[in-house]
Amino acid sequence: MKCRGFSLMSGGLDSQLAVKVLERAGAYIEAICFSTPFFSADGAKKAASALGVKLHIIDFTDDEIKLLENPPHGFGGAMNPCIDCHATMIKRAGEMMQRDGFDFVATGEVMGQRPMSQNKQALGVVAKSSGLVGRLIRPLSALLLEPTIPESEGKLDREKLLDISGRCRERQIALAKEFGIIDYPSPAGGCKLTEEGYSRKLKDLKDHEGLGERKLVEILSVARRFRLPGFSSVILGRDKNENALLKEFPVGLKLAPVNCPGPTAIIPELKSQEDFNIALRLVGAYSKADRLEGDISIRAGEELYSIKRNLDRTEFKDYQIC
Ligand code: SF4
Repeated sequence: MKCRGFSLMSGGLDSQLAVKVLERAGAYIEAICFSTPFFSADGAKKAASALGVKLHIIDFTDDEIKLLENPPHGFGGAMNPCIDCHATMIKRAGEMMQRDGFDFVATGEVMGQRPMSQNKQALGVVAKSSGLVGRLIRPLSALLLEPTIPESEGKLDREKLLDISGRCRERQIALAKEFGIIDYPSPAGGCKLTEEGYSRKLKDLKDHEGLGERKLVEILSVARRFRLPGFSSVILGRDKNENALLKEFPVGLKLAPVNCPGPTAIIPELKSQEDFNIALRLVGAYSKADRLEGDISIRAGEELYSIKRNLDRTEFKDYQIC
């Protein structure tokens, strides 16, 4: 029987090449990708279908939220707990390997591509902390690392594995041509946790409402955010689509103008009367009330409130997070 492995698949070129190199070395490969509100499985789906490999999509949200609460190795430049996130993904893949009787887990990591996280020592640390020593294969750099168990047992042809290192992408581009891989995204990007603006919103949510309500995490990428003096948060729609989404949102107090067009807003947890009054003025200021003769009428929950027309938004600038 063929040696069988799970290969982590992001959809990027290196993860696609890892599959091809392992297949050439004699393995049967199934791919694994992880899905959360912070990164999607779309790239992996597309790549797995083009490569013709079975793809397992794992909901990684609970794992990621736990790491965001308290990442043992801290965050990268934004709210990205990369070291622990990567190690936990490998650990989950290792559990699947054991459960299904597969022989190894593989990744498309290249030694030296990211000097901090992909040097020889760091790759060894991940193998150890995930409990996969001897069963974690990096086919693109395997010849620069100790042989793994499937290689030593001759189940995987080590001579067909590669010795790529460093940041230069020339060899990967040449291999992509050789394997007929034409569709792959640029190496960076795809994870919102590495984006500064998104991370600001996430940190604000973590510091105030917390990350326990998944619905609030899921809508972090939409709408303007404000944190008011009493620490209530206002999520304010920016366009028709966002307003429609917030209108159906199941959590919090909903506000929207009723006698002129304007945004839908959500207050997940109202903390003070002063915050409520500011939120009413905020919705009013972002409404299209220039043609309105009298006051703006705003529905908040089941009640109607009337506020003076005021198109000046500068009052709210200091409260805006993103
Ligand atoms: S970039 Fe995002 S998905 Fe990738 S390891 Fe870092 S936190 Fe995890």
